[in-house]
Amino acid sequence: MARKGLPAAGLAAALLLSGGATTPYTHRRQLMVVSEADEDQMGEQAYQDVLKKSKISRDAEATALVRRVGARIAKAAEKPEFHWQFTLIDEPKTVNAFCLPGGRVAIYTGILPITKDENGLAVVMGHEVAHALARHGAERISDDYFAQKALGVLVQGRSEITQAVVGQAYGIGLALPFGRKQESEADHIGLILMAKAGYDPRGAVPFWQRMADAKGGGSPPVFLSSHPSDKQRIERIQEQLPEALAYYKP
Ligand SMILES: [Zn+2]
Repeated sequence: MARKGLPAAGLAAALLLSGGATTPYTHRRQLMVVSEADEDQMGEQAYQDVLKKSKISRDAEATALVRRVGARIAKAAEKPEFHWQFTLIDEPKTVNAFCLPGGRVAIYTGILPITKDENGLAVVMGHEVAHALARHGAERISDDYFAQKALGVLVQGRSEITQAVVGQAYGIGLALPFGRKQESEADHIGLILMAKAGYDPRGAVPFWQRMADAKGGGSPPVFLSSHPSDKQRIERIQEQLPEALAYYKP
């Protein structure tokens, strides 16, 4: 569907009416100039683009595992209006995963030796779903929009903004990685989601240690490159664990 750019004044008015957004669980106020409907549509488009270019795994067992963990985390996310999809992409050298707006998840086979088991996969799934749930991509665009507007540099149309959501799409081909605050928040919310789904959130600590070890040899995994330092991350996760454990009913 063709979209027309919206004049900046209209966008500002839309923002005033919508009043921004608030993250789940962490209750952080966000600037938000991208509607959930736009985010969802662009998420679908980007997901189809990625899937078209990717080799989908034919490993029935691993695919079933990804879907099972995904379905459990999705249930915990309490977003029935999302368009949940879980795809395993056959790329043994790609240590990565992402979740696009609307709950469209891709896991690369390269991360599976590090997730090791179902609980480890739930750490990654929780983290990625948390980015979508907290609308981090749309927030990033919104922050950039206001920063640029404050400088008087740019008047962006809405279609460009939504395009940029895809460009920065939660880990693929992105120019700007998520900020540290968003990464830590995705860890935090991810621990809660996995705990609600019946997975032990304490598994996040050994998972991130394995990621750090994997980074030790060869090139750094993509999944880590935009993420905070391992030591700092594990410390934060340890601080976040008691809250998440309150949701854990094994
Ligand atoms: Zn992340």
